[in-house]
Amino acid sequence: MKPSIAAESLREHVFSIPIIDTHEHIPDEGVACANRLGFFGLFEHYVSSDLVSAGMPRENLEALRNPDNGLTPQQRWALMADWWPYVRTTGYGRAMLEYLHQLFGVEDVNPDTVLELCRRIDEAHKPGWFRTVLKDRANIDKALVIRWPGQSVEVDRELFRAVPILDHYAMVGTRADLAELEIESGGSIQTLDQLMNAQEERLESFTAKGIVAVKLFLAYRRTLQLDRYSKIEAGRVFDRLWLSQKLDLTLQDLKPLQDFMTRRLIGLAAERGLPIQIHTGLQEGNGNFIENSKPTLLTSLFFDFPDARFDLFHAGYPWAGEVAALAKNFTNVYADLCWMPAVSPAFMARVLDEWIETIPANKILAVGGDSNYVEGAFGHCTIARRVVSDVLSRKVAGDYLTSAEAHWLAKRLLRENARELFRLNQETVE
Ligand SMILES: [Zn+2]
Repeated sequence: MKPSIAAESLREHVFSIPIIDTHEHIPDEGVACANRLGFFGLFEHYVSSDLVSAGMPRENLEALRNPDNGLTPQQRWALMADWWPYVRTTGYGRAMLEYLHQLFGVEDVNPDTVLELCRRIDEAHKPGWFRTVLKDRANIDKALVIRWPGQSVEVDRELFRAVPILDHYAMVGTRADLAELEIESGGSIQTLDQLMNAQEERLESFTAKGIVAVKLFLAYRRTLQLDRYSKIEAGRVFDRLWLSQKLDLTLQDLKPLQDFMTRRLIGLAAERGLPIQIHTGLQEGNGNFIENSKPTLLTSLFFDFPDARFDLFHAGYPWAGEVAALAKNFTNVYADLCWMPAVSPAFMARVLDEWIETIPANKILAVGGDSNYVEGAFGHCTIARRVVSDVLSRKVAGDYLTSAEAHWLAKRLLRENARELFRLNQETVE
């Protein structure tokens, strides 16, 4: 069916919006370009996890992405070839095929094309590649990029804004964890007060360097249920942890300290006007406890921190209805579709369709690639634009929105909501 003129003009409008991408994991360009694995450098996540899910032995995955074992591209391909047919049909597989085609002109990955594909990727990976892909091809104004412990938050501000993960000040579980924090913070951490000071100083120095949010990653490791404990209760756990030389403390033992420190981070972030991005729903990789990541586990935080602003990631997949209910209910909760364009465009379309009806229009964030690669950011953001344009077109065709409202909403979803939430609209020009 031919798209109507109205649908075409909406699509053009959606693709012309310089987006604020709420979530990526892209490393520095020098690091990305140093990877000489070509196509096989794209298997840090997503398609790799689907290959393992389909039955590919983990050893194959480790071998195909090991740069030091001297395998040729064809030998690496042979390690995954049996499982590729089963993953090329998933959202991850489709997204990868699409960006490989659009960025490198290779229509399909197979034994005949894999060598040439590797060559083209290697050739492209040189200074300026990030700019080409993110600005010229993806039309991304700024991407919020995660910084892990140990990574600098000083990013290329033409392209990025940094969002550090500071979970490690709260998720301490062993004496060795404390020793690592001592190295990072440059002071001794022998008391709860010292741990609290180190956490606050870290956040303070990152804030001075221009971070725009903090990210909580904990649902990969434990439940999102963060109960309220007193400082005395947390201090007792700290002392046990500090005295204990063995790895004998369970999550139940540690929970008062972890919950106390995580809640404190939320309070400190709120005082500085920094939103808290929280991983909810599906955990990437193979093997995890999905129920740890249920968005409603967070509810008490929304009551206890009315001044904090919470950005709930990944539509809480599969609990997108819970995210909608929370964002509808609480002023301080925002609903974010990042990663969903790659997980399932159909899910994203269904959810966005409902969210437009349930959540006020200033609290939906529709685009975040959640990729370790600029190629993935481009691919996932392109899919997100397509989904947004299709959903809005259907809403116009069904007389739910006028065409003018759809054009306005597209800009909110792809740009303005994120600009307001992360206060990019308040930045002074550098
Ligand atoms: Zn992520």
